Amino acid sequence: MSEHTVELFSELTSKEVRQAVEGRVLVWPIGGIEQHGPHLPLNVDALIPEAFAKAACIDQQAIMLPLLPISVRSLPQSGGGLQFPGTVFVEGGTFIDYLEQALRSLASLPFRQLVIINGHYENEGFIFEALDKVRGQGVLGQRSVLAFSWWSLVDERWVAEHLPEFPGWHAEHAGITETSLMLHLHPHLVRAERPDHEHPPRCGVYQLPLRADASTEGVLSKTSTASADIGKRLFGHVRQQIRDLLAEVEGRV
Ligand SMILES: [Zn+2]
Repeated sequence: MSEHTVELFSELTSKEVRQAVEGRVLVWPIGGIEQHGPHLPLNVDALIPEAFAKAACIDQQAIMLPLLPISVRSLPQSGGGLQFPGTVFVEGGTFIDYLEQALRSLASLPFRQLVIINGHYENEGFIFEALDKVRGQGVLGQRSVLAFSWWSLVDERWVAEHLPEFPGWHAEHAGITETSLMLHLHPHLVRAERPDHEHPPRCGVYQLPLRADASTEGVLSKTSTASADIGKRLFGHVRQQIRDLLAEVEGRV
């Protein structure tokens, strides 16, 4: 997958853009900047959806919108938070307003479908809310919009086959899947440390006061078994799942 094969929205001119996007699919990666343990860079939640977005653009002959780098609040219980230097976010209301206004501007262009690929755990509900607000305003008409976090497309059977000790997606922050995907996509950015956190948090329970032992250096589960090979297989699986999802939606239109 080489960079030059992806058509970038931001490299079109204003004069070209209407004709270029007419009847086409636009893909928008949405990320975040937060700590990801001692072994991964701050932009993991941006690099992974951007890689899936590039793959989707190649597979669909789609056009890629520029990555949205800043996320909603990074929560300490999800392995983030401001106690870790480098974590940068905006409040949920600001994020929804930003997305809503950006989507309204975008909606004036004659694209056929918008695909949003999210990489930051806490973003998901806010993206869906912004889309529903825009839907309520009618500016998207009957156009197809699909928004998902990349992990939502991972088949449970794939997890059972490849990740026997899987702790659940809520505990995957800087864990085996993100570490493996980074080893596959950007190995030069992955440091040698592989911390394991033995007690992943429970899913769906938010606890105060915050537990001091909630993570091991910001890692919520195990990283020692991560590998570029798992990352390669996971990337291929999600890429295929995106193809299947878009084909399924296309078949119903
Ligand atoms: Zn992450």
